[in-house]
Amino acid sequence: MNCIHCEGPANGVCRFCGRALCKSHARSMPYIITLYIGEKRVPKAIVVADTFYCGLCKPQPEPIEMPELD
Ligand SMILES: [Zn+2]
Ligand SMILES: [Zn+2]
Repeated sequence: MNCIHCEGPANGVCRFCGRALCKSHARSMPYIITLYIGEKRVPKAIVVADTFYCGLCKPQPEPIEMPELD
């Protein structure tokens, strides 16, 4: 696989969309694994910091409602 930006050899893939990235073009972005309601009904997130991110796709900061799956 080659980097989506420069066609050089890729070191990994974007955690969000799967595009391939080399080291110099990979960005980092916290990745939310899961959200849950903690004590006192405060929503909490389990987050992995510094995952690979391509800089092109647009991960949403909030979970998206998907009523059509209901
Ligand atoms: Zn690159
Ligand atoms: Zn991406």
